[in-house]
Amino acid sequence: MDESECRACRLHATRTQVVVGRGPRAAQVMIIGEAPGRDEDRTGLGFQGAAGRVFEDILAFLGLRRDEIWLANAVRCRPSIDGKRNRAPRPDEIATCRQWLERDLGEVQPKAVVTLGRVAFESVTGRPWDTHQRVEPVPISHAAQVFGLYHPAYLIYRRNLQSAYRDDMRRLRERLVALNIPLAPPTGPWTNADAPEGGR
Ligand code: SF4
Repeated sequence: MDESECRACRLHATRTQVVVGRGPRAAQVMIIGEAPGRDEDRTGLGFQGAAGRVFEDILAFLGLRRDEIWLANAVRCRPSIDGKRNRAPRPDEIATCRQWLERDLGEVQPKAVVTLGRVAFESVTGRPWDTHQRVEPVPISHAAQVFGLYHPAYLIYRRNLQSAYRDDMRRLRERLVALNIPLAPPTGPWTNADAPEGGR
């Protein structure tokens, strides 16, 4: 079955389209979000709208471009209430959609997987999310190291997390450098975070 035609859970009935995992097969970094929202459901692309703008800041600081990472969600169809408001994905939807995450991990075999938020971390690692373990490497069976971050949407509503997020980004950049992942010099609003060199 093709991912874009999946009907394995109830979310197929209310989606506009499946927001499929996408990126180059040779990507060294995979970034996993939670689930599509309204903008993603409409465009078919990951991280659009307000959370997408924070996501662009994250990429800029890490020195990565969208076209060189694999980007996907733990759940690939939009969970919504009557097609209007977004809602959190349910455990059975996350479990059913995990087949596509497994497929991506097996085919891409990235060096690093960055998860954004609790749902993504728990789906990728099978471990409970502990915010104190942010950016600590967690090995998984595909030889990749997983690094958990807060979901970027948190920063929209909780501005007090800005400085913690900036520290996390700096540590994550160090971890990626240690894995010999080539990174461009950091740019964007977090560049005053004393970023380590990236070797590109
Ligand atoms: S959310 Fe995942 S499992 Fe459910 S229909 Fe969409 S692609 Fe299939």
